[in-house]
Amino acid sequence: TLTAEPTAIATETHCPYCALQCGMSLTSEAGGTPTVTPRRFPANGGGLCQKGWTSPALLGSPARLTSPLVRVDGELRPASWDTALDLVATRLREIRRVHGADAVAVFGGGGLTNEKSYLLGKFARVALGTSQIDYNGRFCMSSAAAAGIKAFGLDRGLPFPLTDLADADVVLLVGANPAETMPPFVQHLTGASSRGGLVVVDPRRTPTAEQANLHLTPAPGTDLALALGILHAVVADGHLNQSYVDRRTTGFGAVWRVVAGYWPEHVERITGVAAADQRRVAGMLARARNAYVLTARGAEQHATGVDTVSAWINLALALGLPGRQGSGYGCLTGQGNGQGGREHGQKADQLPGYRKIADPAAREHVAGVWGVPPESLPGPGRSAYELLDALGTGDGPRALLVFGSNVVVSAPRSAHVAERLSALDFLVTADLVLSETSALADVVLPVTQWAEEDGTMTNLEGRVLLRRKAVDPPESVRTDLQVLSALAQRLGQPAQRFPADAETVFTELRAASAGGPADYSGVSYDRLRAGEALYWPVPDDEHPGTPRMFLDAFAHPDGRARFVPVAHTGPAEPPDEEFPLQATTGRVLQHYQSGAQTRLVAELNDSVPEVYVEVHPDTARRAGLTDGGLASVVSRRGAVTARVRCVGSLRPDVVFLPFHFPGEQRANLLTNPALDPASRMPEFKVCAVRLSTQDGA
Ligand code: SF4
Repeated sequence: TLTAEPTAIATETHCPYCALQCGMSLTSEAGGTPTVTPRRFPANGGGLCQKGWTSPALLGSPARLTSPLVRVDGELRPASWDTALDLVATRLREIRRVHGADAVAVFGGGGLTNEKSYLLGKFARVALGTSQIDYNGRFCMSSAAAAGIKAFGLDRGLPFPLTDLADADVVLLVGANPAETMPPFVQHLTGASSRGGLVVVDPRRTPTAEQANLHLTPAPGTDLALALGILHAVVADGHLNQSYVDRRTTGFGAVWRVVAGYWPEHVERITGVAAADQRRVAGMLARARNAYVLTARGAEQHATGVDTVSAWINLALALGLPGRQGSGYGCLTGQGNGQGGREHGQKADQLPGYRKIADPAAREHVAGVWGVPPESLPGPGRSAYELLDALGTGDGPRALLVFGSNVVVSAPRSAHVAERLSALDFLVTADLVLSETSALADVVLPVTQWAEEDGTMTNLEGRVLLRRKAVDPPESVRTDLQVLSALAQRLGQPAQRFPADAETVFTELRAASAGGPADYSGVSYDRLRAGEALYWPVPDDEHPGTPRMFLDAFAHPDGRARFVPVAHTGPAEPPDEEFPLQATTGRVLQHYQSGAQTRLVAELNDSVPEVYVEVHPDTARRAGLTDGGLASVVSRRGAVTARVRCVGSLRPDVVFLPFHFPGEQRANLLTNPALDPASRMPEFKVCAVRLSTQDGA
């Protein structure tokens, strides 16, 4: 007898992890784990990092949840979907009846698809009627978003395609480590580095800094001052682009009144960066034919994150870079849908289309699409950390639903956050695996992951992508959209108001975004399936999209960009006698965010299985520590035991810990939740610590 060969089906899709959203194909044969092949896509140029190569392992992970779990007598036990959803709806209704609508809160994630971000925001405002919704993107790029809106009137991470970087003479990377966080990105920097123009600002000698032509190492929390020093040098050395400043901007005079006091020698005393290097960078940027200033988390995750990003934008404006073909300013978004996730209404102060929830016209438009009266929509709620901090307190939420986030590991002062979660009357999570946050829940709902469902993502360039379903999910696992739809109906909403099909939800999202700053009304699944490169805004079906923004005008009503005067104040928690060192946190190549996914992939976890602390050898010696031994890293909020890695290139006053690990290895046990006053971003990037041997010596 003849046996038919199994037919392998290749599905063109994108990586489950970071904002580069590398193109890949998944090939599956019936019943098997799919294999991954890199796909030529402009952002990754056919490259993948280790995380992308190993991503199919997530699909077959034995750690996957395959049944809803309900806590009974203190233990999470399998339950049917009807039992779990009925329980959730009953408890939410009770809590709302007794304590009011704002007693129920929702927490989302920057990895959720556009459709999920949109339906989650609608679910909170319409089905629950609560103002209490925010998401983990507040921890990620909210400071750059706020600074971008101040300066340009609109925030799109990169307002130009990544491939434009290839022609740059100079790229100034501030607080970004793409060689580890998104390795295929580095191909876009080779043009600048081959021309001697790659400058990296980072207190650590990261793999990205290793490739730089010039590496500046300011003390953590002083990069705002460094930007002021370089801007001072630009002006003092006659490099100000006066005609651009006159034609395309306002407010330079107020900025110069502050910057005039930040001469490079003064800034050297604040930052530790030599005045000569500040002048050198000013000259390199000024002489470049094309140049870019790019910021990331290192600039943003501070209690002064918005001001810090504004300082780097001011520098770019003084040189005439933004809105010029082949030059510009951009923010490197981190999470997979960090861009789209901030546009569709899961943020405490926003409605879909990147509209402000307090704006009457925005409320009217979105309420019309949703078929509810505008006055029924709640106003702005608490920001992410403030929401977590208020859980279970007098006027705080009593119940929380978490989608796509693992706050027990990823939030600052994480022991306190876990305490607040434990103080809730009711915690529900939708999760792939029993993450550290789900382990505290009363109900856990098992949901599909990237290759098991259709959905759109918006990558760091503002390009909308279709992530396609390549494999069937495990039986009895549902999509987040199905969960939201089923819950909304149990809370009394009509089924047609909460569709569960991704394309149907996207069609509604298009209408809700129409006319807003992030206008998706011309993006359709059909156009994406046809391979069109659609960068928002795309205001109608014929519109080709907007790869490059601001070429003619910025988004403020007068078309001009704004200089924003800012001054250096330093970290919220400076070092002192008791805590003499500064700890900074970040990512490693093998792990993504809280590690809930990458710690499940053996090849990744075996490479970096535990937290470590990088310490300068002199600092280690003074603390009695040895390379490879264990250290206690202690801040005012907690302590972490970590293996010592002595790193001679590190500043002696700085230690570094990656933040991907659970339990007592959480770097965020240490971090300071001091918030930026505008973006409400916590100060992840610097806190005061001391080191000791494990016995406390
Ligand atoms: Fe690309 Fe990021 Fe995925 Fe790595 S993790 S393959 S850089 S999208």
